[in-house]
Amino acid sequence: MTSQVVCCRRAAELLYEYAEGSLDGELRGLLDGHLAKCAPCRALANTYAATVRMSMTMRWSGMPQEVSVRLHVELERRISAG
Ligand SMILES: [Zn+2]
Repeated sequence: MTSQVVCCRRAAELLYEYAEGSLDGELRGLLDGHLAKCAPCRALANTYAATVRMSMTMRWSGMPQEVSVRLHVELERRISAG
């Protein structure tokens, strides 16, 4: 194990910025490394990317509240399930 390990909880925190493309290089690299090994987080990253794309397409200032809430509920469920 190296000292630069991204756990699933940390990865989840970084995913939104990652999907927006606003994550800086070092963190992005760490997250990429985690996603390469972790299928659940990869699926979550795809969900985030799709959501961000959708909200941008619709020219909304942010995620629709309902989607945001559902996403976070799902996130919490996955994290607590391990
Ligand atoms: Zn993970």
